[in-house]
Order: sequence, then C-alpha cells, then structure tokens
Amino acid sequence: MPSTIVWLRDDLRLDDNPALAAAASAPDPMTVVYILDEDSPGIRPLGGAARWWLHHSLAALAADLESRGSRLLLRRGAARDVLRGLAAETAAASILWNRRYALPERTVDANFEEWAAQHGIVATSFQANLLFEPGSVRTGSGGPYKVFTPFWRTCLAGNDPRMPLDAPQRLPGPAPAGDGSLPLSDSLDSWGLLPRRPDWSSGLAETWTPGERGGNLRLEEFLGGPVEEYGTGRDRPGLEGTSRLSPHLRFGEVSPFRVWHSLRERFPRNAPADVGIFRSELGWREFCWHLLDGNPQLATVNYRREFDRFAWQAPSGPELEAWQRGRTGYPFVDAGMRQLWQTGWMHNRVRMAAASFLVKNLLADWRLGEAWFWDTLVDADAASNPANWQWVAGSGADASPYFRIFNPVTQSKKFDAAGRYLRRFIPELAGLDDKTVHEPWTNSAAAPAYPAPLVGLQESRERALDAYQQLKDG
Ligand code: FAD
Repeated sequence: MPSTIVWLRDDLRLDDNPALAAAASAPDPMTVVYILDEDSPGIRPLGGAARWWLHHSLAALAADLESRGSRLLLRRGAARDVLRGLAAETAAASILWNRRYALPERTVDANFEEWAAQHGIVATSFQANLLFEPGSVRTGSGGPYKVFTPFWRTCLAGNDPRMPLDAPQRLPGPAPAGDGSLPLSDSLDSWGLLPRRPDWSSGLAETWTPGERGGNLRLEEFLGGPVEEYGTGRDRPGLEGTSRLSPHLRFGEVSPFRVWHSLRERFPRNAPADVGIFRSELGWREFCWHLLDGNPQLATVNYRREFDRFAWQAPSGPELEAWQRGRTGYPFVDAGMRQLWQTGWMHNRVRMAAASFLVKNLLADWRLGEAWFWDTLVDADAASNPANWQWVAGSGADASPYFRIFNPVTQSKKFDAAGRYLRRFIPELAGLDDKTVHEPWTNSAAAPAYPAPLVGLQESRERALDAYQQLKDG
C-alpha cells in the first residue's frame, strides 16, 4: 500500500494545516515527521529560548496527533538524509509539506523535491504560514516593495487570504516499515532542547503555554476584548494590550489565515479602526519575510549598504552585559531587558526603546543586539528579528531614521506613567513615587540597589548624531 510522509516544520498545528489535511483526506498510511536539522548548510541554529519553546510545542503536538490516531516521529540530522532514509523505510509514494521561506530552508526543500522526482516520489507543497507569499506582491514595475505602506495597500487590494481549513478529526495511522514494525522515533528528551544547569526556564513556563491549544486561547482572549482597544493598548507595556501571539505564529501553532478570518467573523461589519491597526501588524510580519526573501543575509548585512561605513563603537564587556541584564540605570530599558530574560518576550514599544539604547546611546553594532534577541526571545524569527533591528538602527528598509533616538525617560513617562511595568520587573524601584520611578538617579538614596545611568542621554545622543553626520558626509 502506498504511504505518505507529512513533514512538519514551522507549522506545528493540526488546524489549518494544508499538508496534513491533504494527507488525511486519503486512506494511505501516513508518517508525520519533525526533523531537528542543525546540519544542513546555512540553517541558523535556534537560540536557547526558542529551543525551550520547540520542546514543549513538539510535546503538545505529539499528544494532539495521538488523540486523532496518528503519531509524531522525531528524527535528527540533515533533512535530506533523514527523509531519504524514511522514504525507503516506509516505501513512501508521496511527501507533503507547508512551504517555508528562508533561503537555506528553501534550498533544502528544492533539492529534496528534485531527488524525490528522480525517485518517483510525488512532493507537494502548500501555502500555510504567510498570507501573501514572497514574490506574489510586487510594485507596478515588478520589483519588491521597500516601503511598508504601499506593500500593505497592495496586499489588501488583492484577493482576501483563503479560508482556513478545519483540523482533521481522524488521521490515518502511521506507515509500518517492511517488516511490519513502526519506524523508530528519537525521544524528545534526548534532543536536549531544555536548559539544564542552570535551568533558567521557570519564568518562561509561568508565562507561556506552548502549543496549539495555548495559541488558540491567546487568540480567543485577545479577540474577546483587547483587540477593540488595540490602537492605544498596544503602546502600554503595563497592560495586556497586545495579542502575544508572536511565538505561536513563529512556530506555526496558530495559522495567520485563522487569525485573519477570526477577525472577520468577530467583526463582520464596522470593525473598529483598532482592528485595521492590528491587521497591519500582521502585515509587518509579512513585510519582514518579503524583505528577507530579497535579502537572505538580512541578519548580517546592512540592507542599506552605506551603513557598512558606519562607525559603530564596540561596547566594553561590562557595558554590553549591563544592557543584556537590565542594569543600564534607565528603568524603561532595564524593565524590558529583564522582561526578556525572565519571560522570553518583550513588549514591542520597549523592544524599540531598548534596541535604540544599544545602537544609538551605546553606539553598538545592531548585530550584537540581534544576536542577543535571537538567543533570548521565544518568538525569535529569522525575518522579523533582523528586519526590526535594522529598522531601529536606521540601516533597514523603511527604517526609522537614524536621527530618531528614543528617549527612554520620555517613553516611560508617556507609556507607563504610573510605573506599573517598571515596578513589575525592577523590584529595586518598588518604593519610588510615580515621578521618581522614571528617573531614579534624582533620588538614588531611595533605590540604593539600582545602578546609576551607564551613559548620559544628552552626550550619548550627540555622539550618535555626530557619527551619523560623518556617515552622511562620506
Ligand atoms: P501584536 O501587537 O499582538 O501583533 C500581532 C502580530 O503581528 C505579532 O504576533 C507579530 O507576529 C506581528 N508583528 C507585530 N509587530 C511586528 C513587527 N514590528 N514586525 C514584524 N511582525 C510584527 N517579532 C517577532 O515575531 N519575532 C522577532 O524576532 C522580533 N524581533 C524584534 C526585534 C526588535 C528590535 C523589535 C523592535 C521588534 C521585534 N519584533 C519581533 C516585532 C514585535 O516586537 C513583536 O512581533 C511583538 O512585540 C509581538 O507581540 P504580540 O504578539 O503581542 O504582537
């Protein structure tokens, strides 16, 4: 009997999973495999927080598959070799997957497709993780967009993204090998994705429920209230004003098509403007992937190449560590960096301020910050992380101009006026009043354990502007 392989990657869900749904609609035995591929050339190894997430996401997925009559096979190695072996073991006649978009991954997929065709195996791929695939949205002259607003306008003017597919209720059982036994799976624990000695993951576990169910709950909660005030709520780090779907979208536990159409169902008519604002944030995610598609080196090479000449100053070890650990002496930056360290996530407004502090006030190369976020974010994303770092640095597409320097004190007074967010993540500031909490150096005796400012805002701002002027002067 012919058998099918479904190869899951960044789509760890049963809902709206076109590859899984297509395999489930046929009676053929089906092997569902996830491959931990750290061996194929160019694939960026996951950071620590993302590895923690992946472990729990796979555990949740395995349980969901079992509850519908299937099973998750885990294998490790270069995908090409693993799949070739598995195709032979299970006498596979077809293989299905949902597309991914970074160049190294696309290269692996294209090479495997070629090999499959030569060996009489039908490889079929589907659109599942982006609403508008790279290459499908072009300017009038046929080029890629460099600016978000027209990009998004073109997306919205085209066909509505397709309807999501429901999760299959029953799945075909796994394909036995020639001798009737089931292919052997690695044990998830043997992959060592969880941190040990020290285990720093307790704050992550308290904050998140990785997996499809956790993602759907987040979506429901968000649609049940915060979305209606998203326009203002999204700027208040002390409130739960955003969806917190980012890691669920990153690992494909929630489909962007499901999010899109849930918004439509929730607001069939007269959607508040806030819904459009939220939708355009999903658009930024799409835009970042379009940028990565045209610029595969986005995490290492300036999008605007004139920034290759920019005079970054290597921060000293203690300076960099003060930023990483949330000890710069600027509460808004420090609360964000501590939130990141403790929970694997940081509020967007604070990401911008913390990133600006590193690249502008400390004049550090944005790649240092990108790498730190890559290691510590549960939503670390191959497109959104570098694209946003370059946006902040001024070297990116549609970037914030270099001379826009976030003032962490002004930001904090404006967006966390009562200091709720600051006090939550910086216990040393708990006793300060609502004014001093934004500028603890004005009463350092009241917060003796909190560090003094690492740099002066005014001098460091001027230094950054000078460096930018030099770049402009050539
Ligand atoms: P919501 O406000 O609820 O937005 C909904 C979804 O839209 C998000 O889940 C996300 O998928 C997408 N989105 C929102 N803002 C952006 C944006 N600026 N760029 C791309 N997609 C966006 N986001 C990541 O998903 N992964 C990253 O690695 C990442 N790194 C970042 C680094 C820096 C320096 C900055 C400034 C931003 C970064 N972002 C990244 C974007 C943004 O901060 C997060 O997507 C957002 O904070 C996630 O929270 P949320 O799910 O509650 O977002």
